[in-house]
Amino acid sequence: MKKIIIFIFIINFFLENTTMATKNSLKEYRKQRDFSESPEPKGNNKTTINSSPFMIHKHWASHVHYDLRIKIGNTLKSWAVPKGPSTKTSIKRLAILVEDHPLEYANFEGTIQQDQYGGGTVMIWDEGTFHSIREKNGALVPIEESFKDGRIEILLDGKKLKGNYALIKTTPTKNWLLIKMDDEFANKRINQKIRGRSARTGRTKGQIEKQEK
Ligand code: MN
Repeated sequence: MKKIIIFIFIINFFLENTTMATKNSLKEYRKQRDFSESPEPKGNNKTTINSSPFMIHKHWASHVHYDLRIKIGNTLKSWAVPKGPSTKTSIKRLAILVEDHPLEYANFEGTIQQDQYGGGTVMIWDEGTFHSIREKNGALVPIEESFKDGRIEILLDGKKLKGNYALIKTTPTKNWLLIKMDDEFANKRINQKIRGRSARTGRTKGQIEKQEK
């Protein structure tokens, strides 16, 4: 009996891990969109990059929100942050985990037609690189493991956001919270001159709409 239980346990372990590795994480992303109509990238599963980019899209959908994306594995893990990030350590911002986006989405800025999924203008509000800074027993924890733990701590080097941020998964709602950690960049205001403009192209929302139809 004991042997059978151990055997089942091992089989389960392998099944879970192989499905996790081979699962097409873009399935949901693609299911929601009609790429003959939407200007968004379909994404190529073979695309790889070695750096660790992060970006925040500002998205004027039916409700304006910000989408924080960080590269974990070979995909952009994405959180919708209704109120956007705060540089104040005292403020916790709700961050709702949404479907994985393709790496190519990092370059997407434009206007999604109103009748399409997520219709509205999308601006690359901020972009840069991140480093996982979370430690366990004195050792750095890989970002994949931090994501599974529901506890991410990253150092952002963006054009607008800088310094350490935490993403914490809460129970029982499974929602995440985006929190500025205390450091030299805490409680500083974002430069007003660039705040309302694209970090990639310097364009305002109006300029994006005029140029990307
Ligand atoms: Mn969005």
